[in-house]
Amino acid sequence: MTERDTMEYDVVTVGAGPSGLAFAIKLKQLDPAIRVCVIEKSSTIGAHILSGAVIEPGPLDELLPGWRKAPPPICVPAAQDEFYLLTRAKHYKLPTPPQMNNHGNFIVSLGAMCAWLAPQAEALGVEIYPGFAASETLFDERGAVCGVRIGDMGVAKDGSHKPAYTQGIDIKAPISVFAEGARGHLAKQLVKRYELDRFADPQAYSIGIKELWQVPAGRSEPGRIIHTIGWPVDSATYGGSFIYHLDRDRIAIGYVVGLDYADPNLAPYELFQQFKHHPLVKPQLEGGTILSAGARALASGGWQSLPQVEMPGALLIGDNAGTLNLPKIKGVHQAMRGGMLAAQHLARSRSVVGWDAALRNSVVATELRKVRNIKPGFKKGLWFGLGNAAWETLTAGHSPWTLRHRVADYARLQKVEHYLVPDRGFVERTLPPRDRLAGVYFAATEHDEDQPVHLQVADTSICIDRCAKEFNNPCTRFCPVSVYEMIDDANGKRLQINAGNCVHCKTCDIKDPYQIINWVTPEGGAGPNYQNL
Ligand SMILES: Cc1cc2nc3c(=O)[nH]c(=O)nc-3n(C[C@H](O)[C@H](O)[C@H](O)COP(=O)(O)OP(=O)(O)OC[C@H]3O[C@@H](n4cnc5c(N)ncnc54)[C@H](O)[C@@H]3O)c2cc1C
Ligand code: SF4
Repeated sequence: MTERDTMEYDVVTVGAGPSGLAFAIKLKQLDPAIRVCVIEKSSTIGAHILSGAVIEPGPLDELLPGWRKAPPPICVPAAQDEFYLLTRAKHYKLPTPPQMNNHGNFIVSLGAMCAWLAPQAEALGVEIYPGFAASETLFDERGAVCGVRIGDMGVAKDGSHKPAYTQGIDIKAPISVFAEGARGHLAKQLVKRYELDRFADPQAYSIGIKELWQVPAGRSEPGRIIHTIGWPVDSATYGGSFIYHLDRDRIAIGYVVGLDYADPNLAPYELFQQFKHHPLVKPQLEGGTILSAGARALASGGWQSLPQVEMPGALLIGDNAGTLNLPKIKGVHQAMRGGMLAAQHLARSRSVVGWDAALRNSVVATELRKVRNIKPGFKKGLWFGLGNAAWETLTAGHSPWTLRHRVADYARLQKVEHYLVPDRGFVERTLPPRDRLAGVYFAATEHDEDQPVHLQVADTSICIDRCAKEFNNPCTRFCPVSVYEMIDDANGKRLQINAGNCVHCKTCDIKDPYQIINWVTPEGGAGPNYQNL
């Protein structure tokens, strides 16, 4: 084994999403001499980014004041907001909640926006490395984080080295910034190692599934923004949709389901597909084609679940910390603002110490605190949740109480024998894609099949026995791209992992009821190749 190559920087950033890029840009603006790099696992910047996305432009105005003169490639001013309650066959227009008023906001493709931000960061001297997956955190002799290790390339499934084997380099820095997005693979280990969540509620998550459609000419009304609640989720399950009308006859449509759901037989992907067939929705898509599709988890615990965001040698920003405002379904402005504040903190003090206090005293935390009770209210069902949301909105979050996320999402799944599946009134589907496997095509996912499986299941005997009996193998339903299959053939019953389909949404790592699935980084550059999601 040769000695690993090492690169050294003042700051290493993991993740070229809006938080990591805003952080790096701000840091270079404040201190042009600082050496900062950004490591990104996708083959090109933005290829693993999936979002709505209607964004609040405040942080962008501050970071790049001239951006409106040369905006990202997809950038449509918000024109009209509509908010509906759906039943199986009908829709009822409701007043748009104030937090969902998008006046002054823009509909973007966040993937395209990150690809547009990256060269602007590079122009300032930030070094960006797409196709590099940070697979391990490095620690110094005092136990502080001192950088990250890039995963090896060219390792075969059986662990042997293929002819193209290249040992991953170590990137060392006195300060590491983790901006991996929701359920970061390295942040998950750091939270455990440093007990960063000891004073916080468990993080709560949702899964968002999205498609970008090309619709017949004249159908899309650029700037039209639709959100719905109600069908096809039952009132015990948190879920809702977004439909954003873009320019050039394109419509972005998606569905978000709280991963605190209890029904072991629930299939979030099927909910999304059913939603597309509602009479309000189907006419918007019919005759069109899907351009791109995928899924991604959102960190939705908010204020109560915010872990400590600093540790020796490192800090967390963006969805990796959990700064998304769920009632708004907006995390981009929070991620960018948090990244910029972290840059200011580091430029000032050259130390991670005090970042936790700085974030908690910032506008990012104020925004989270204000809406802290809205999402947990929905744990008592849709009607209580709506009433509670109205109260919290009217009182601007000044309730003297804080509703808690006491139980982690995976532990909320009920056993099959205890859960009476409601009739959700599902309809026959006619719109594409036919099924999840057909949907994978639109994510353009690529993984070299001859590499170690990056979905590590600690004990597959649990899948065959206990999980089959207790939960009916929910991984076969909550994965949006059919990675997990239970096979029962001449060789007996077993779990088959189609790792090549994985779109890195992290849902299995979050929702597996026994917590035996561990998502780790595959080879750098592998994964979805999202176009404009
Ligand atoms: C369906 C859906 C709809 C949404 N709608 C909206 C909306 O309308 N408006 C809004 O403001 N927000 C929306 N959000 C939330 C928003 O997308 C997130 O808050 C935001 O993307 C968080 O930014 P981030 O930089 O923290 O993480 P991310 O955007 O997730 O970026 C993280 C980056 O890090 C990379 N990475 C992760 N791990 C590693 C590793 N180990 N090594 C190297 N690279 C790594 C990833 O590939 C990715 O590129 C939505 C989210 C979803 C899923
Ligand atoms: S295997 Fe896990 S991370 Fe990959 S797509 Fe399925 S649920 Fe998401």
